[in-house]
Amino acid sequence: MDLAANLNAIQMRIEAACARAKRDPAAVTLLPVSKSQPPQAVRELANLGLNLFGENKVQEARAKIPLCPGHLRWHMVGHLQTNKCRDAVGIFEMIQSVDSLGLAQEINRRAGQAAKTMPILLEANIAGEAGKFGYNPDALLEELEQINPLKRLEIQGLMVIAPWTRDPEKARPIFRQLRDLKKNCEQIVGAPLPHLSMGMSGDFEVAIEEGATIVRIGTALFGPRPQSKQTEAAPENA
Ligand SMILES: *Cc1c(COP(=O)(O)O)cnc(C)c1O
Repeated sequence: MDLAANLNAIQMRIEAACARAKRDPAAVTLLPVSKSQPPQAVRELANLGLNLFGENKVQEARAKIPLCPGHLRWHMVGHLQTNKCRDAVGIFEMIQSVDSLGLAQEINRRAGQAAKTMPILLEANIAGEAGKFGYNPDALLEELEQINPLKRLEIQGLMVIAPWTRDPEKARPIFRQLRDLKKNCEQIVGAPLPHLSMGMSGDFEVAIEEGATIVRIGTALFGPRPQSKQTEAAPENA
C-alpha cells in the first residue's frame, strides 16, 4: 500500500471539494481512522506529517498508541461504554461518539478526577438506522439541555455516520440535516459550535461541500482493513 500516494490523492480531493464549496482547506481536518491497522501504518503516516488519528475501540487504542510516535494525538470515534470512560479520558484528545446522557455524565466525572476538560462531539443517527449508535435528533436536543451544564465537558459539535451507499449524493441530505441540527444545538448552548465531523472514504467530498470540519477516513487512505476481528458497529466486549 503506497500511503504517500493515497494521502496525496486524498489531500487533492479535499482541496478540490473545498474549492467547489469556496471553503478554506485549512478549515477541514483530515482524521485518519487507523482502526484495525498496524502501528507501522500509523508510523508511516506520522512520517508524512500527520499527527492526528482516530480509533474506534479503547482496547485497541490502548495497545496501539504506545507503539506509535509519542507526539500523536488521538480521537475516539467508536461507541464508548461507560466502563471504558476512565481510559478514554486518559488516551483521547476528543471523544466524538457521545450518544447518551449517562455516557456524558461518566466522561464528565472521569475528566474531573483527571483534572481535565474533555472536548466532545454528540453523535447523531440522522437516518434513524436500526442497530446503529447515535442520538435521534429530537433526543439529542433534549439531552443537550442536561449535558450542556456539565463542567468538565467542552461540547464542540456533532458527528454522524451516513448510511453506506454507492452514491455519495445520497448522503448529502444527511449532512445537511446535521448542519441544521448544529444550529439548533447552538441555540441551546448559546455559543457557536466549531465542529461537524462527517464524511468517510465514500462520501467525504460531499460532506466537505456541506460544511464538514473533520473528515474521518480509513480505507481510502490505508487501503482495506486487514481481516477485522470485529463487526463494524458492534459494541466492544467488556
Ligand atoms: C471506520 C470508521 C471510519 C472510516 O471509515 P472508512 O469508510 O474506512 O473511511 C469513519 N468513522 C468511523 C466512526 C468509523 O468507525
